[in-house]
Amino acid sequence: MLPIRTSTMSGLSSRNTGRVGAEQHATASAKHVWAASRPTASDMLADGLSAPLIPFEELPLIKSERSTLSSCCIRWRFTATFFNRDQNLARGSLAIQVKRWLEHHGISDPCIGLSVNFPILRGRGRFVDVHVAASSMEVLAQAPLVFRGARLERHLVGLALSPSIMVVEVTGSNIADTGVAQQLADVLAPFAQVHNIWLETRSHSQDTSIRQSKMIALVETALSERGYCDWDNITAIPGYAVLNGRECRLDYVGRLDWCTFCRSQASSFHTSETCLKVPDKMWQTLHRGRE
Ligand SMILES: [Zn+2]
Repeated sequence: MLPIRTSTMSGLSSRNTGRVGAEQHATASAKHVWAASRPTASDMLADGLSAPLIPFEELPLIKSERSTLSSCCIRWRFTATFFNRDQNLARGSLAIQVKRWLEHHGISDPCIGLSVNFPILRGRGRFVDVHVAASSMEVLAQAPLVFRGARLERHLVGLALSPSIMVVEVTGSNIADTGVAQQLADVLAPFAQVHNIWLETRSHSQDTSIRQSKMIALVETALSERGYCDWDNITAIPGYAVLNGRECRLDYVGRLDWCTFCRSQASSFHTSETCLKVPDKMWQTLHRGRE
């Protein structure tokens, strides 16, 4: 299903997580708690915030398959047997099919952003990713792609948003309200433009007193001069931050292995192995644990 940017989300919505590795017995709900944009009369939801940039259900959460797909990309599945030796042939054939399809639908410059890639390591080539410009995503989604006479199946649709849109998941704050969400927005502000923050709460279906909460921020980092994701900007986002007086862990795609000893106190990025502050005794314990 294509992402529908104009759709709105109720303040509190339950969802089927659908996430790889998600606990099967947990139920999750998400509440939109912070928005960068001020609501207009037509835009304001019951929670007093403006509608989020995208609904919670469409976020590329870290453990979801969608997080493996960049924005402006559609993943297709081969329905017939596909051999890795066919990759070059398929790449050329599919690029031509996509170009013709976009041209046929009035897209004057179909090659902008167009690329065909194989996401799965050799030996498991069942999928192919097609990147196009954000404005071409809707037309691409309808493309009847074929390889060796077999129709490809549309498997996963990425967001029709800037490729530098990403999520930051924050654990450890214990509680999250608008005040804590504002603290998170302030922490992230030097590194990324923060659009929206949600609070996700999971409770165990057998024992609802067991609850885990997480803050999830939708952010956008600056692109490189050539318009691509800039990993220097992404990896500059800290791995830890103090929120609500607690040390919290920030997770996002591309996060480096930040020092677990210094955590939010690290003045610059380094790993535990290269930390100069870890006492000798602890250093040995850390390393013994890894052997
Ligand atoms: Zn350190």
